[in-house]
Amino acid sequence: MTDVGSSHGLSRSGMQVELTEAQKKARLRYRSFVRERISPYAGRWDREESISTQIVDQLRGEGYLGAPLPVETGGGGLEPISYGLLTEEIARGCSSVRSLLTVHDMVALAIWRWGSRDLKAKIGSAVAMAEMLCALALSEPDVGSDAAGVRTEARLEGDEYVLNGRKKWITFGQIADLFLVLARCDGKLTAFTVPSATPGLARRPLKGIVGTRASLLAELELNECRIPSCYLTGRVGFGLSHVVSTALDYGRYSVAWGSVGIAQACLDACLDYTSSRKQFGAALREHQLVQRKLTNMIAETRAARLLCYRAGYLRQTGDPNASSETLVAKYFASQAAVRAANDAVQLHGANGLTEEYPVARYLRDAKVMEIIEGSSQIQQMTIARSPLGEL
Ligand SMILES: Cc1cc2nc3c(=O)[nH]c(=O)nc-3n(C[C@H](O)[C@H](O)[C@H](O)COP(=O)(O)OP(=O)(O)OC[C@H]3O[C@@H](n4cnc5c(N)ncnc54)[C@H](O)[C@@H]3O)c2cc1C
Repeated sequence: MTDVGSSHGLSRSGMQVELTEAQKKARLRYRSFVRERISPYAGRWDREESISTQIVDQLRGEGYLGAPLPVETGGGGLEPISYGLLTEEIARGCSSVRSLLTVHDMVALAIWRWGSRDLKAKIGSAVAMAEMLCALALSEPDVGSDAAGVRTEARLEGDEYVLNGRKKWITFGQIADLFLVLARCDGKLTAFTVPSATPGLARRPLKGIVGTRASLLAELELNECRIPSCYLTGRVGFGLSHVVSTALDYGRYSVAWGSVGIAQACLDACLDYTSSRKQFGAALREHQLVQRKLTNMIAETRAARLLCYRAGYLRQTGDPNASSETLVAKYFASQAAVRAANDAVQLHGANGLTEEYPVARYLRDAKVMEIIEGSSQIQQMTIARSPLGEL
């Protein structure tokens, strides 16, 4: 966003599609971090179904975990567009690492927005500085898109809440220190922050997922888990409508940018491969049907990025349409990533189906983006009902 009358690159007269010098510099810094610390290892992490502990420490050390939390909380105070650039660059290297940023930051933001004063005094700065990693525990074995159907139960006993239930597909659930758990309390959807060390909380690794394979998914079982009443996050009945919605809104913003990162990674791989691989006496890139795929990939990646810029710009200016624009950005970018990855595998021929090239991983990772943080179908229903079509 161009620097017209503002240090954030925002113009009072509207959105300028130009990054500030500071944002350009930050993007170069993120890019070189990813090139050095993430890209060379992403394939191995994917095969091993685990990212390394070193990368978590390095992300923490650079201030990349907790980056969007306000400085006064102990976070990095990164404005939304720079956060988007960071997310794109990280996803360009590895979607599993990107998903760590997404879940930690979305939950940390929700805790800071809705947590009680006592809860924030106990864990707030550790969360903002990512000394404690956060995960979102919303889905259950029988509850997915229809989040209002959660069956996990919470009851108040004296000054403690007692939780019972099962959660599934919890990204980084294997290593998270805290879970934002959606449960039913007095029949009302309510959010709780539950430390992983709480007696009665058991986690099992979920192995064998094909996309974002290194994101250390877990299944949780909560059996008479007792937490202090100040770990109630938001009010009883505010769990989905306020607390989890805050988290999901930011999660979608992050996933939208992450999808752009995958699409750009596909483009990087294809421009490289089609320039060097020759068939019929010419580089693949010289053949018109190949050019058609490359052109679509270029156009869609740029369009997705522009939607993300717009969503980021509206967030930065506090515009009430920011969440709806984020939905559109996530909807379009996740599908653009799948199309780009599908074409990237095709353009690599048989090589595209091997682990020697990263494009098969991109395709598996891109597919996840259409399912998480509200599937494409759920977003079709939400966007069609929103006033966005009338703007
Ligand atoms: C890699 C990965 C990471 C995840 N991480 C987390 C996490 O950290 N925390 C967490 O809580 N959950 C997580 N999830 C779960 C994710 O949020 C759910 O998968 C998602 O909400 C969809 O739910 P579902 O898979 O149960 O599909 P379902 O809700 O059963 O839907 C199945 C299909 O039906 C479609 N569908 C559903 N309802 C409708 C409708 N009304 N009209 C038309 N089509 C419909 C869906 O779009 C989908 O295509 C993760 C999932 C994956 C794959």
